[in-house]
Amino acid sequence: MRKIAIYGKGGIGKSTTTQNTAAAMAHYHNQKVFIHGCDPKADSTRLILGGKPQETVMDVLRIEGAEKVTIDKVVKKGFKDIHCVESGGPEPGVGCAGRGIITAIDLMEHNGAYTPDLDFVFFDVLGDVVCGGFAMPIRDGKAQEVYIVASGEMMAIYAANNICKGLVKYAKQSGVRLGGVICNSRKVDKEKEFLAEFTAAIGTQMIHFVPRDNVVQRAEFNKKTVTEYDPKENQAQEYSELARKIIENKNFVIPKPITMDELEKMVVKYGIAD
Ligand code: ADP
Ligand code: MG
Repeated sequence: MRKIAIYGKGGIGKSTTTQNTAAAMAHYHNQKVFIHGCDPKADSTRLILGGKPQETVMDVLRIEGAEKVTIDKVVKKGFKDIHCVESGGPEPGVGCAGRGIITAIDLMEHNGAYTPDLDFVFFDVLGDVVCGGFAMPIRDGKAQEVYIVASGEMMAIYAANNICKGLVKYAKQSGVRLGGVICNSRKVDKEKEFLAEFTAAIGTQMIHFVPRDNVVQRAEFNKKTVTEYDPKENQAQEYSELARKIIENKNFVIPKPITMDELEKMVVKYGIAD
């Protein structure tokens, strides 16, 4: 079983990419997949579950107590038998959301939810926060592999570089490694070139370039991944390619984040400073 954490700037496409890749892994590559949503928004699994309402671990814990947090209650099965759980969060403004992630992962482990027959467990983690509970998947060895979702936009790359700094801090103690950066295209000029240079500079790879395509939104509107909604679409093949590359990946590193100066030079070189 490989446990993977997905990081990246908020809104960059982590949940979309995780679910579409997981669906392609299950459908085209016969993999058994589990998605553990670690964003208090609890929107990491709705495309797999077709919008089925999902009771989060934190909801059940708060309302019914820890003994009621069973696999039957909080783990739902969706497209291609992909198992899904959402950590959820505290009531808005009350308590620490990061703490909830720790509790939810611990409870899932305690209940034996990550069964040995699984090929992949994905942790879809909130934004680019690598402190507190949100760092937990990489801090405590809950995940061995990290993929960062980024685009050619300055702030996405800035966030990716910061996530790498967090990763470096925990890599020795937890053994976690970076498997690559997924470019989720924003159709920015010279995006591929910029990301290729950035990933080379930090010592990793751009594992796949995922095009921006409106079919992703059409599928999302129907509460489905592209693979389920319309497998004939080219975008389904793109996610299948990304899935294959992750399955076959052998490139795992402790990244070498670059300095602000180096990053700014790159930004100027690719002409996206303004
Ligand atoms: P995150 O989980 O990183 O906060 P989301 O996965 O929720 O981000 O993505 C934000 C929005 O971007 C979603 O509504 C989704 O439809 C859109 N999106 C993500 N990737 C693509 C893509 N490759 N093509 C088109 N739209 C995309
Ligand atoms: Mg998300």
